[in-house]
Amino acid sequence: MRLRVLGSSGAYPTPGHPCSGYLVESGRTRVMLDAGPGTAVAFQAAVPDHHLDALVLTHAHPDHCSDVFHLFNLLRFGPANRRGLPAFAPAGVAEALAAFLGADEDHAFHRVFTWQAVAPGAAVRVGGIDLAFAFTHHQVPTLAIRLEAEGRRLVYSADGGPGGGLPALAAGADLLVCEATLPAEAGDGAWPYHLTAAQAGALAREAGVGSLLLTHLAPMLDPARSVAAAGEAFGGPVDWAAPGTEVQV
Ligand SMILES: [Zn+2]
Ligand SMILES: [Zn+2]
Repeated sequence: MRLRVLGSSGAYPTPGHPCSGYLVESGRTRVMLDAGPGTAVAFQAAVPDHHLDALVLTHAHPDHCSDVFHLFNLLRFGPANRRGLPAFAPAGVAEALAAFLGADEDHAFHRVFTWQAVAPGAAVRVGGIDLAFAFTHHQVPTLAIRLEAEGRRLVYSADGGPGGGLPALAAGADLLVCEATLPAEAGDGAWPYHLTAAQAGALAREAGVGSLLLTHLAPMLDPARSVAAAGEAFGGPVDWAAPGTEVQV
């Protein structure tokens, strides 16, 4: 599998740095995880023919889904002329996005995308990639995702604090892409809906993952400091999901 980072900025985009969006590819199968602000542009640069096999939106916070509207128009009016793209999200998310558009059931929003609500226990296969889900501890229903192909496993945390279903989902993963939104000063338990880099590192150690890629850092954080803090807690290889990062899993 190959992971490509379209953007990873936590909470809001900054110049040259979109919010959350990732491409996971295995063979000819390509899945996009999240569509935060800026990722529709980054997607066009990364995938010139705009081909996608599925989209997963982890939750309804705008830093993870607001560019779905631009993806919609790109796929509808652009050269791909895509219809029926499988799109997965927690229950209620597709309805909320459609309501924002004023889209009734006949609207093109429901033809470009084929929306399916997913929850833990759902087994989804897209081409050569198997997807599984867990709910994280976050303010709204939020999916962490495990993607498995060619005997390799990648887990993406989306957003969430300690606990929830992420630790079990991440167990034994080859790569954990984990949020590390909070500054070290936040310590343990100050804000339960996100992690510090040290907490992400501890989670990686307890889950026994092969390597850790930190993502969703708050824009004011120094990624080098976050990587160092996570590495100390993890004891394994850690990097930061800078935009454009590619990782072979
Ligand atoms: Zn977020
Ligand atoms: Zn969130």
